[in-house]
Amino acid sequence: MRKIESFKIDHTRLQRGLYVSRKDPVGATTVTTFDLRLKEPDREAALDPAAAHTIEHLGATFLRNHPQFGPRILYFGPMGCLTGFYLLISDNLEAAALLPLIQELFCYMADFTGAIPGASAVECGNHSLMDLAAARLEAGRYLKEVLSGSRGPCLSYPE
Ligand SMILES: [Zn+2]
Repeated sequence: MRKIESFKIDHTRLQRGLYVSRKDPVGATTVTTFDLRLKEPDREAALDPAAAHTIEHLGATFLRNHPQFGPRILYFGPMGCLTGFYLLISDNLEAAALLPLIQELFCYMADFTGAIPGASAVECGNHSLMDLAAARLEAGRYLKEVLSGSRGPCLSYPE
């Protein structure tokens, strides 16, 4: 079988950042897949599964309720390697154009208080796998150190 596109990225040189992973034509529209990379691959500890799961619940809820982007959100969830998240949007977009939304999203999660949406046995398949404190910490780190850092986030994959 042929190697899929996401395995062709040189992960030894991939930094934390916000990337366009791929663009796929679907009917008359384009679906853009974003790579929200929170962790340096293989060079630092990956996300704790409970933190990643909490970010998934908070993030999906925020994005699908967003007045501007909500109707175009197709999917938000963690990568299996737990170094980041994929966000699929039904639109042809560049990373720079999405940065304000992602800053808004991680600001929301870093400050989130209250009940985690969907964290019940009726609504989720592993509802006790949640850690709001760790999710807030990880969201705040990505917001401060990557999205709002002095150099701005890295927006293109290594050549
Ligand atoms: Zn869940």
